[in-house]
Amino acid sequence: VAGEDGLRKEEISENSVVHGGIPIDNTLGNGYRPEKMDWERRRRVKIMWYMVVPQLGNITTMASIPILLLILLVGSLYSVEVNGGGGGGTVELVSTVAEQRVFDYFALALQWPPTYCSKSTKCCSQSACCRGANSPSVFTIHGLWPDYNDGSWPSCCSGSAFDEVEISTLFGALEQYWPTLSCSKSSTCHGKKGLFWAHEVEKHGTCASSVTGEEYNYFLTTINLYFTYNVTEVLFEAGYVPSNSEKYPAGGISSAIENAFHTTPQLICLNGALEEVRLCFNKDFTVRECVAKSDCPDYVSLPEFASLELNGGTTTADRSFSYHESS
Ligand code: 5GP
Repeated sequence: VAGEDGLRKEEISENSVVHGGIPIDNTLGNGYRPEKMDWERRRRVKIMWYMVVPQLGNITTMASIPILLLILLVGSLYSVEVNGGGGGGTVELVSTVAEQRVFDYFALALQWPPTYCSKSTKCCSQSACCRGANSPSVFTIHGLWPDYNDGSWPSCCSGSAFDEVEISTLFGALEQYWPTLSCSKSSTCHGKKGLFWAHEVEKHGTCASSVTGEEYNYFLTTINLYFTYNVTEVLFEAGYVPSNSEKYPAGGISSAIENAFHTTPQLICLNGALEEVRLCFNKDFTVRECVAKSDCPDYVSLPEFASLELNGGTTTADRSFSYHESS
């Protein structure tokens, strides 16, 4: 049952801790307890004092002292190093009031694998598109993104590079609910190519750490949010089931989600098929409206899985594949 704050109260168990406003189920992490979060902003402030040498020769009265103090004050500058929003990286600002730009809200991006996989031209062991009958037939996680109200977002903020070991206890859940659907390696913020998880946590997660905590907690927070707002269940129960022949009104899909979660989702389409559903949250994880609008036509399809399979069951990457309807 959804509570007034939009959270499903029955999700909170003795295995849960309230983390960043949402219940965290630690059983996902094999009992691993999230480390104490580092709430401190990474902000280094360097103060540079410029020498101001006033001409003192003509100062003969006490009335000149306030003028001297004013000259000293104006002559001082602060050099503040902050994370740049929008493009990422570090920006050197000279200002007396410079602050790291604080993000406004979260978007939870969920993808519909059959639509994403329909654009794949090759198969490989890492892609969940290629799991045959075990390919995902539910919405899976794309990412949890911190966004600004003006429609832009920060990316590649300061933080450690992705470390697989940190999230090893979550692998089972991540493989199932946050798999990559691509055979290409994803770019990271450190000039390398890596896993989809590395891409997401470095590009988006680092900018969310003031709320979610760092790597492990970013993934755990996202998985728990995904379970709390079960878009697949809501759509299937409302009759929006995968079909290669039906078209559904986009407004109906939107309303079903709105009725369940009290927020309008952003729908993203690819060639008339639903590809993503995005839900937006305040920083305390209560729901809110997204800034960006849906881009779907009035009627959309929710395709069934058209699985890509590795030839002969081999798990070697980038083999040729057979493409067929799984029905
Ligand atoms: P974004 O910045 O939108 O979070 O990341 C999308 C990038 O991750 C794309 O460049 C894409 O190549 C890569 N990627 C890897 N796996 C996936 C996947 O399963 N879904 C999506 N949407 N992007 C993926």
